[in-house]
Amino acid sequence: MKLIIFGPPGSGKGTYSMRLRERYGLEKISTGDIFREEIKRGTDLGKKIENYLKEGKLVPDEIVIEVVKRKLEGLDNFILDGYPRTVEQAKVLDKIAKIDAIIKINAHKEILVEKISARRICSNPKCDGNYNIANIKKTIEGVEYILPPLLPKNDMKCDKCGSPLIQRDDDKPEVIEERLKVYEQQSKPVIEYYIKKGSVPFIEVWMNRPPEEVVENIVNAIEKLKVHFLNRNP
Ligand SMILES: [Zn+2]
Repeated sequence: MKLIIFGPPGSGKGTYSMRLRERYGLEKISTGDIFREEIKRGTDLGKKIENYLKEGKLVPDEIVIEVVKRKLEGLDNFILDGYPRTVEQAKVLDKIAKIDAIIKINAHKEILVEKISARRICSNPKCDGNYNIANIKKTIEGVEYILPPLLPKNDMKCDKCGSPLIQRDDDKPEVIEERLKVYEQQSKPVIEYYIKKGSVPFIEVWMNRPPEEVVENIVNAIEKLKVHFLNRNP
């Protein structure tokens, strides 16, 4: 199965793809991971990528396309996370893989802002403890959000190591607004490209419940699609 997942920052996209990876034995492919891998292996491409990143520049499309192409060769089961990011990348992807479904995670902006700004992480750099202090129960345009907090047992101390919790600079409201805007601008043309193309089914789910429920909704939709495919191609 070949999947793409789209979702704004704070939609839990990373968590869902991890769960889908476990569930279906998919390889989770993100350009960030591939870049790190190439850099670590010290390949020519890795060195080029490292230079762009060092200078704080975006890695050019042709390099991104090249590394993804190499990675996807011969792979039958994967979920692409954060790719394609441009219409150009989507067009090349069409030539190298037949995508079975696109998972699109929807959420209202105010929920994302509330959720992201409530994130707290462990201040110990060796610990991956992360929490969320928002308790969201509201309905926006007919979508009912029930998102309980993920609180530490002791007041603002990490459950795993006892270190105090902090907020990442990236998770402050003014930065969140910018991150959401960038996502919106980048993803819109790519999603429109696929809608226009019309040949790849969309699985649209709302991020309005805790991750395990959202993943269940995605899995149910995938299973329905599979039945659909089987009936179509006996
Ligand atoms: Zn910790």
